[in-house]
Amino acid sequence: MNIAIITSGGDAPGMNAAIRAVVRSASGQGFKTLGVEKGFLGLIENLFKLLTPRDVSGIINTGGSILKSSRCDLFKTPEGLEKASENLKSRRVDWVITMGGDGSMRGALSLSEVSGIPVTVIASSIDNDIAGIDETIGFDSAVNTAVQAIDKIRDTAVTYDRVFIVEVMGRNRGFLALEVALASGAEFAVIPEHPITVEEIAKRIKQMGEIGKRSSIIVKAEGAIGDPFQMASKLRELTGYDLRVTVLGYIQRGGVPTARSRNLACLFGKRAVELAAERKKNRIVGLKDGQVVDLNIREVCESIKKIDDEKYELVSILAI
Ligand code: ADP
Repeated sequence: MNIAIITSGGDAPGMNAAIRAVVRSASGQGFKTLGVEKGFLGLIENLFKLLTPRDVSGIINTGGSILKSSRCDLFKTPEGLEKASENLKSRRVDWVITMGGDGSMRGALSLSEVSGIPVTVIASSIDNDIAGIDETIGFDSAVNTAVQAIDKIRDTAVTYDRVFIVEVMGRNRGFLALEVALASGAEFAVIPEHPITVEEIAKRIKQMGEIGKRSSIIVKAEGAIGDPFQMASKLRELTGYDLRVTVLGYIQRGGVPTARSRNLACLFGKRAVELAAERKKNRIVGLKDGQVVDLNIREVCESIKKIDDEKYELVSILAI
């Protein structure tokens, strides 16, 4: 069997560990692995290279993707999908393993529909927004990176009696922000799933001031409320507090993967190759209730992941 492996969309710490796991598990089964460079764009541009177990040495502890990634609008068109499909067939690829998030999963399904070649998706995303899956590769690493940054920011917040808005990634969902808010002891988690106005936040900041809490951390998901600097100036106006903004940005996507992200990568990579060996097509591999599971991609695409409301409430409950 010839397996093509692709990393697509946003990079997530642990993708390299998953590439290593796929290449070595595949080799153990007697399968050949072709790496596709630059995500779905590389499928269209025919950027294939053979990956042997030796080619994936020394990468378990590195961030990013040795195969590189891309966002590729051409892949969303019939022409792009046709070209990708032709290239896969000319390389005699029997199975495609794609690592990525929600968008990559949709792209992989379209590819399978057009080419007839089965796919397996390894859930890899710092956004952790894939329905039916509790944890993706890279999420734990991104959470830890953000929490370490906030621990440092809090020192200044407390020393100067300041309120900090810390914007974290997550696109239009709040999973990363909520996890980070709870773990960093933030006073607020501002996430798209629980809309809140700046006026309400201002009121709560003032109430906290009255009970002796003069500094606070607002963890804001990038998809919630809007521009953090405008939010800060409005809060400054409404509360009289000293407001500061830190946008964590791309530091959350890179860096050394945590042991947890690496271990999930090893487990998911192995399962993805097993699915290919069993000819169990169009499944997405992720963690659910502490177990490695594989789910039907189409069903996952049609569902929306729910935020944990109890966890959201807990941030406020523990903020007093
Ligand atoms: P992520 O996988 O991290 O969520 P994106 O949402 O950017 O990242 O998706 C990665 C790529 O997947 C896109 O650039 C595009 O090439 C492809 N893709 C996303 N949605 C679709 C779709 N509905 N059909 C085909 N390809 C898609």
